[in-house]
Amino acid sequence: MKFASEFRDPAAAKALLAEIARTCDRLGATRAKPVHIMEICGGHTHSIFRYGLDKLIHEGVEFIHGPGCPVCVLPMSRVDECVQIAEKPQVIFCTFGDAMRVPGHRKSLMQAKADGADIRMVYSPLDALELARRNPAREVVFFGLGFETTTPSTALAIQQAAREGLGNFSVFCNHITVPEPIKALLDDPEMVLDGFIGPGHVSMVIGIHPYDFIAADYGKPIVVAGFEPTDLLQSVLMVLTQIEQGRAVVENQYARVVPEHGNAVSLAAIADVYERRPTFEWRGLGEIDASGLRIRPRYAAFDAEEKFAIGYGAASRNVPEPEGCACGAVMTGRIKPTACPQFGKGCTPDMPLGALMVSSEGACAAYWQYGGARAVAAE
Ligand code: SF4
Repeated sequence: MKFASEFRDPAAAKALLAEIARTCDRLGATRAKPVHIMEICGGHTHSIFRYGLDKLIHEGVEFIHGPGCPVCVLPMSRVDECVQIAEKPQVIFCTFGDAMRVPGHRKSLMQAKADGADIRMVYSPLDALELARRNPAREVVFFGLGFETTTPSTALAIQQAAREGLGNFSVFCNHITVPEPIKALLDDPEMVLDGFIGPGHVSMVIGIHPYDFIAADYGKPIVVAGFEPTDLLQSVLMVLTQIEQGRAVVENQYARVVPEHGNAVSLAAIADVYERRPTFEWRGLGEIDASGLRIRPRYAAFDAEEKFAIGYGAASRNVPEPEGCACGAVMTGRIKPTACPQFGKGCTPDMPLGALMVSSEGACAAYWQYGGARAVAAE
């Protein structure tokens, strides 16, 4: 297949759905006894709902929505620290649009902007670099947020700032990594997971081997997948086929984009600029060892944590979630968004209680956008 339309071909999708159904029947998978497949990435969650795959697929497959939305897993304490930096009078705070409406304990960045903070939406860290060049009397801070997909571009911006000696540019680093939370979920005795759909964009950077432990140590299949409907259906079929054959390996359905060993240039930039934090807090998952990145001391001049004395200390962590918010349970796949008592009532895209309702990769946003709003209206 060469063109996007071919990956949305109804005949190909129907053939895959029929083969999935036959495989489910052979496995004895039913609605009451489904195969639990976690799609780790929020982009996949949105594709599943955008194309109605949850409704079309055999009832013996249950999609469990994973924690792969970086905005959703950002702890409230870090949103508070963003606001704290952004409200300094000399600061221009730059962020991707997704993060603007994520609620903090005190306020969101959107509310801070309304209150007078100079907060700008950017499309790339390079936009923030340009703002720093044009505003030498101001401190320009880029909100570095995301998994391995966005980590390299922030690293390249820091390297460029170092080359130019741009002393008024820094990064508030909240970059996180995918394999560690998967391990945390697999170690959780309450989680029932039979296989995984692996993240496509993250894997473009890191390749497929960082997931080897899922198959080797936990005996679970994982298939790195693309984002079109036939990509996802083929990946589900590959997971089911492994289960049927009693195999557990890492497979790459998205080989047209994902190199087996990742992107060498990106990996070199990551290694040069970042080191692992001993631990990092994930909203809904708690502290996960070695799951966050911080800027190496050699680039300390471009580290907003250093510049504004925002240490990642215990005192700044574990800010309680709002009353009645079930974000943690949704993020770990324990409940579906519509089972949250706040869904569509205390929490809507206009008045969000949790980040999952406003992030473009949030599970609650997907349910709301592709049917949840109608379901609540019909109640
Ligand atoms: S509906 Fe709102 S409060 Fe409930 S889990 Fe989703 S984002 Fe969190």
